Amino acid sequence: MKRVCFGILALSVYTLTTTVSMASEPSSTKPSADKVLQTLTAGNANFAKGNLTHPFTDKERIALASKSNQGNFATATIISCSDSQVPVEYIFDGGLMNLFVIRVAGNVCNTDEIGSAEYGVCHVNTPVLIVLGHSQCGAVTAVAQTVMGKGHELEANIPPLVAPIVPAVESVRTAFPQVTMDNLVNRSIEANIWQGIEHIFTRSPAIRAKAASGDVTVVGAIYDLETGLVRWLPKEKVDALLAKASGGQNNSPVKPEAHAAPEPEAQAAPEAKAHEPAAPEHSAH
Ligand SMILES: [Zn+2]
Repeated sequence: MKRVCFGILALSVYTLTTTVSMASEPSSTKPSADKVLQTLTAGNANFAKGNLTHPFTDKERIALASKSNQGNFATATIISCSDSQVPVEYIFDGGLMNLFVIRVAGNVCNTDEIGSAEYGVCHVNTPVLIVLGHSQCGAVTAVAQTVMGKGHELEANIPPLVAPIVPAVESVRTAFPQVTMDNLVNRSIEANIWQGIEHIFTRSPAIRAKAASGDVTVVGAIYDLETGLVRWLPKEKVDALLAKASGGQNNSPVKPEAHAAPEPEAQAAPEAKAHEPAAPEHSAH
C-alpha cells in the first residue's frame, strides 16, 4: 500500500516538475502588455456588440493545444468571479490557449488564487495579470448585506471564502457612513479589486518583482453586466499599490470611488482604507 502511494506521489511530482519545466520555456513570440490589452479590448467590443468571432476554437486549435506548451500562447492571467454572467473567454472573444483563467466567487485573492496567478505569470509567462470584478456581484452583495446587518445564514464554507471581501466593504462604509446599499455594493466591487491587487503584491514576491521590472502588467477591471463592456481601472492606483508593497515612496491614496454615484457625505469622508495592508480576515457571519 505504501509502495503504491509512493508511486502515485512520485508520478505526481514528476508530472508537476515536467509541466513546470515545459511551461517555463521562454517565448519570444508573446505580444507586449499594451498589445494584449488592445486585443482584449477589441475582443470585448465584439462580445458587447454580439459579434463574437470565436477565434482559436476549431479542430486545428484543439489538436495544437494537445501537443503545445501553453506558455508559448497564453497572453493574460485573469482572476475573475465564478458567476455565470461572466464567462471570461466569451467576454474577451478568446479561444484555446489564449487566457489563463482563475475563477472564484467574488474574485477574491487568497492563497489558492495567488498561487494560481503565480503559475500564470511565472510559468505560463503571460505579460498581463488582470483582477476582474463585475457589476451586481453576488458574493460582494452578500458580504455588503452582512456588513449592513441584513445578511442571512450561509453554508459552512462560504463565510471563510468571502472573508477577504469584508475589509473592502468595511473600508467603503467607513469612508461613506451614509452610503446606500446599491452604492455600497458598487463601491465595494471596485474596492475588492484594489484589495485583491494589494494582496497579490504583498503576498507574492515573485509577481511583485515581475511587476516592478515590467515583465508583467497588473490591471484592475470591472465587467458591466448591462452593457457587456469591460472598464479598465486607473493604472496609477496599481502603481501606488505596487510602490507601497515594495516599500517605495509613491503612497498616493487609493480610495474606493470612481464609478458609483456621489455620496453627499463624500466630502467629509476620511481617507479610504482599501489600499492599506490587508486587514485580518474575519468571517462574514
Ligand atoms: Zn460575482
